[in-house]
Amino acid sequence: MTAVLGIDYGGTRTKLLLARRAGEEWEVVRQDSVATASGSVVAIVDEVRSFVGADPVAAFGITVPGVLDEATGTVVRSTNLPWLDATRPADDVRAAFPTLGPGVAVQDGSAAALAEATLGAGHGHRDVFVVTLGTGVAGAHLIDGGIRAGAHGAAGEIGHVATGGVLRCSCGGVGCLETFIGGRNLGMRWDAVVGTGGPSGAREVVEAADAGDGRAAAMLDEATGMLAQGLLGLVATVDPGVIVLGGGVAQAHERIVAPTVAKVAAGATFHAVPPILPARLGAWAGAWGAVLRSGGLDGP
Ligand SMILES: [Zn+2]
Repeated sequence: MTAVLGIDYGGTRTKLLLARRAGEEWEVVRQDSVATASGSVVAIVDEVRSFVGADPVAAFGITVPGVLDEATGTVVRSTNLPWLDATRPADDVRAAFPTLGPGVAVQDGSAAALAEATLGAGHGHRDVFVVTLGTGVAGAHLIDGGIRAGAHGAAGEIGHVATGGVLRCSCGGVGCLETFIGGRNLGMRWDAVVGTGGPSGAREVVEAADAGDGRAAAMLDEATGMLAQGLLGLVATVDPGVIVLGGGVAQAHERIVAPTVAKVAAGATFHAVPPILPARLGAWAGAWGAVLRSGGLDGP
């Protein structure tokens, strides 16, 4: 059976995944991770061409970091890869590599959330809310495999619910949940505590807590408490069937996921608390999302 290709075009690494349908499941033909080719679609196509080789590809998906007009496939703005602005990456790749089959561009966070909900921790659930704890905090609500984007395409931004904190958020607001549990903010808070030049991230805080630093443990305790409050609000308003916690910060299971689950359970009153599960696909979620969105699902 013909395979479909997922291209997860990231700020530092590009992940390439060739997969084919095997009954209800997908199977990996092969996968590879390379340094992101910078500056031109020709460079992307060179990587893709050597990866695909002679294998026929029925369709492909390519993720884009940034804001994407999914109706036209045009990049509105990519902070990390500004050369993509106003381009149509899927069309450009296809034009340079016509035998690849038709392609579609997908916003990277949407792709990862779709993959986690469909193939990862949300597999088997119809109603999934994916919270991504990365540099910032994002969320996506998926029902029957489709993202519920909201009336204005702005739903899911759980990172920007107010907590009563005082730090300025990347969105311009003050005290958003992201200012406690986002990786960049955790690192900035830690740098302010220890007085080193930084920049640190969540990893440094977790490592310090694991090494016995009470200041780091207290910072993470406060962060997971805020996250639990945010999730209780989510459960109260949305009542999802399962909540998936993904992103780099959530890889610290014992310091982030486990205490958050315990605090949600302790704080629940009338809430129908669903399972709160760690993401399963890790760094390959975006590439899997590109495979799923490629259109190859119903293809030859
Ligand atoms: Zn915010």
